[in-house]
Order: sequence, then structure tokens, then C-alpha cells
Amino acid sequence: MKPPPFEYLAVDSVDAAVGALAEAGGDGKIIAGGQSLLPMLNFRLLRPSVLVDINRVPDLAYVRDDGDRIRIGALTRHYMLQTSELVAAQLPVLHEAMQHVAHLAIRNRGTIGGSLSHADPAAELPMMTLLLDANLDVRSASGRRTIGAQDFFLGALSTALEEDDMVVAIDVPKLPARTGWAFEEVSRRSGDFALACVAVTLSNREDKFGRVRIGMMGVGETPMRASEAEALLEGQPYSDGLVDAAINAIRASVEPNTDLHASSDYRRHLVGILAERAIRKAWTRAMEGSDA
Ligand SMILES: Cc1cc2nc3c(=O)[nH]c(=O)nc-3n(C[C@H](O)[C@H](O)[C@H](O)COP(=O)(O)OP(=O)(O)OC[C@H]3O[C@@H](n4cnc5c(N)ncnc54)[C@H](O)[C@@H]3O)c2cc1C
Repeated sequence: MKPPPFEYLAVDSVDAAVGALAEAGGDGKIIAGGQSLLPMLNFRLLRPSVLVDINRVPDLAYVRDDGDRIRIGALTRHYMLQTSELVAAQLPVLHEAMQHVAHLAIRNRGTIGGSLSHADPAAELPMMTLLLDANLDVRSASGRRTIGAQDFFLGALSTALEEDDMVVAIDVPKLPARTGWAFEEVSRRSGDFALACVAVTLSNREDKFGRVRIGMMGVGETPMRASEAEALLEGQPYSDGLVDAAINAIRASVEPNTDLHASSDYRRHLVGILAERAIRKAWTRAMEGSDA
């Protein structure tokens, strides 16, 4: 199928992009990598009158060391994130996640800003920003604001962005030294969207769980944090029984959909298996990295 007709505007600044969105009065769409937008247009799921192409805006594609944070430009391609030495060194769990995002051809075009704004419930980057407590910098013609990842994802393909907003950058706090981490995903074929996925970061504080973060996706309309399981683990010494209790809490907290790819029960079972593997692996890494 071909897309419906639209006006095409290639802009060369963020001001011009948000100005064009404001002028379109809710009927404009940014095009970044086009990997999700073009299928939506071709299937006539979207009919914007204006496409605002941001690919020529300078200084929107970068990964920078910003003290205790990594700052990522919205137009950063998945491949650039996947191969960034800074990300590999400071955010190894994100580096691992990027190996699972789509196929190379899509990673060469797709952008972090596009993936977060599209908000597919089975996409890796939304879950990773939620896991890592990232903030999104957003611009519109009326100003700028910051939205925490925990407030950004509202539903499947639905975010806190207004129609004339543009994501310009993402700030991700670096992982403290000796943080254990793990990323576990199951998809039918390499590069497919996940059936379910869990990522964990945790610290070892005097042989007890320190801060624990558990992110999940594929089991709800948005990526989720397993807050109850996080609270169960924090401050407790590691034991198999404690991990089992956390897994039970995770399974009880999700209501996955049944769809063509998997049943609700299968996804609930799977997320528990993945969480168990991820917690154990992250704990082992935290122990290896600790001075104890
Ligand atoms: C076959 C296939 C397999 C895929 N598999 C995976 C996978 O396994 N995991 C995964 O995570 N993704 C997967 N994807 C999606 C891919 O990662 C896309 O690149 C990504 O979801 C969208 O990024 P984009 O830059 O292409 O955005 P676009 O398609 O250009 O835009 C997507 C949406 O975001 C909006 N947008 C884009 N940039 C901005 C911005 N800066 N500010 C505000 N709004 C913006 C657009 O208006 C549009 O609504 C797959 C895609 C395909 C086609």
C-alpha cells in the first residue's frame, strides 16, 4: 500500500520543526527513521497532512558523557547506540538491550526519539528508559520541559507528548560502580519484537540486595517496573526463597494480553522465568564486582 498524500517539510532546526508542528495544528507528524511511521501511513492508520523531516537538523544525533549522566540526542540511530563505547562502558545493560532491537537495516535508520515516541509495548528502548530512570527533554513552540520515563508511557502507542511536541534528548543516569545487571528476552526469531522481556540492575550492599530495579515488557500495554518485587528484595540477604517470592509477586502483578503470538498465561509464566534468570545473573555480577 501507498501512504495517503501529505505535505513534506525538511527542516534544519529544532525551532523550525516545532514551529511547523504548531502550524499544522495537531495534523503534523515528525518523521525520524520512518521505520514505524511509514508502515502506519501505508496501512492508513495515520493520515497526517504534514510530515516534518528532522533528519537534517544538526546536533541531534550524539551520545555524550555529561558527568553522572549519559545524554543521548533524539536522532541517535539504534546502530550508533548499539556500538557506542560510552554506552558499553557506562550502561552495559543498555548495550546488551540494543543487540535485540530489530534487524541491522532497521537499526541503521531507526532512532531513539522515534522508538520512545512510538511507544510500542514490546520495544526495548521504552523499557530501558523506564528501568534506568531516564528523563526525556521535550520541546514545543511554547517552550521546553522534562518528562520522566515513569510519566511518559501512557498506553500502547500512547505517550505524554502533545501533538506539537518534539523529543530532543534523553538523559540517562550512569550505573554506579559495581552494579549488577542482566537483560533477558524471548522472541520467536532474532530481531523480532519480544514476547516478553525483563531487565534488572541491582547493587550488593554488605551481602544484601541494595537498590533493585526490575523492568518488564511484553506483559502489558506499557513497559512496567516490578515495584513490589523490587521492594521485597531491597535490604534482604540473597536466598532462593526470597527470589521465588519476588517471582511470584511479578507474576501476580501482570495481566498480559493474549494475541496471535502468545497466550496471556504463557506470557505470565515466561516473565517469571526471565525475571528469575535476570535477578540471579545480576546478583552474580554484583557479587563479582563487589569488594566483599
Ligand atoms: C520489521 C521491523 C521490526 C522491528 N523490530 C523492533 C524490535 O525488535 N524492537 C524495537 O524496539 N523496535 C523494533 N522496530 C521499530 C524500530 O525500532 C523503529 O525504528 C522505531 O520504533 C521508530 O523509530 P524511527 O526513528 O524509525 O521513528 P519514525 O518511524 O520516524 O517515527 C515513529 C513515531 O515517532 C514520532 N517521532 C519520531 N521522532 C520523534 C521525536 N524526536 N519527537 C517526537 N516524535 C517523534 C513520529 O512522528 C511517529 O509517530 C521494528 C520495526 C520494523 C519495521
